Amino acid sequence: NADLALYRAKDQGRDNYQFFTSEMNTQLINHLQLIQDLRKALEAREFHLVYQPQIDIKQGQLIGFEALIRWQNSERGFVSPMDFIPAAEETGLIIPLGRWVISEACRQLRHMCDNGLVGDNVVMTVNLSVLQFQDDELISFIQSNLKEYQLKPGQFEIELTETVLMENLDDALIKLEALKALGILISIDDFGTGYSSLGYLKRLPVNIVKVDRSFVMDIPQDKDDMAITAAVIAMAHKLNYQVVAEGVETEEQLQFLESCQCDYGQGYYFSRPLPASDLEEFCNDFNLESIRNASAS
Ligand code: C2E
Ligand code: MG
Ligand code: MG
Ligand code: MG
Repeated sequence: NADLALYRAKDQGRDNYQFFTSEMNTQLINHLQLIQDLRKALEAREFHLVYQPQIDIKQGQLIGFEALIRWQNSERGFVSPMDFIPAAEETGLIIPLGRWVISEACRQLRHMCDNGLVGDNVVMTVNLSVLQFQDDELISFIQSNLKEYQLKPGQFEIELTETVLMENLDDALIKLEALKALGILISIDDFGTGYSSLGYLKRLPVNIVKVDRSFVMDIPQDKDDMAITAAVIAMAHKLNYQVVAEGVETEEQLQFLESCQCDYGQGYYFSRPLPASDLEEFCNDFNLESIRNASAS
């Protein structure tokens, strides 16, 4: 592809040739710079976690938090995980970074339990990428953190995308069985955006399906998305999964999900992802009825 671009550029004269090479160089340099900054960032403690509440739709209760990583760099400002997780994955940096996420999330949950913000039924969930899931020490690392922070396995959940699971299905199966045997919860993230079917995934010992935000965001305007969402929820329930809807932003969406018996919701309607310093206030004040009343008026 790069050769083709060069060839085409050369065809169009010398300036174009220079233009293409320098653009490609810039991209490469930017990428290498990102990797270098990422390497430093871990030691410089430039990362922090934010926590997005997950709500039991029927009970109106907080059931858990998804930990989401944030990178604040003095020169770059805020960098989205969508932009740096792939680079961390490519360089293997995701392993130490992902371990930090697991430890920090466990520490935070312990802190919330100790301070009476949440009961021991509230779950902390973290995202795992391909390399992290393939890491032979993943399970022992999780176990040692649960021990250190005195958490039950049922208070900890991992989110895996279909892509992560399908990367090496045989290995994934063995690992998932081991995690399940320990009592750690497993959810499939971004469900519906990959290539697998629910029937296929049924072979995997997974507890929860997270319906991707892309299906939820255009409810109620998009009737196709409503049909897909309803069907995924119904099928997931038949297969004994619980369902989380991602990206719930409006009362209309919540009402539709409620009518589909969707178990849990996550999204800006309930709360944005919160820095640790806002968790106390959220836990003390959260009340689904008042959110709904406020949105109705
Ligand atoms: P995800 O796991 O699917 O996380 C949900 C994303 O949707 C988060 O974006 C969250 O902030 C956003 N979101 C939640 N509710 C709403 C809503 O109502 N509306 C809209 N528009 N967005 C909503 P975020 O934090 O930027 O993370 C993006 C992705 O980066 C995550 O998608 C996950 O795949 C990855 N990621 C984040 N943190 C980590 C991490 O610690 N480790 C790994 N491996 N990946 C992570
Ligand atoms: Mg997730
Ligand atoms: Mg997701
Ligand atoms: Mg996603």
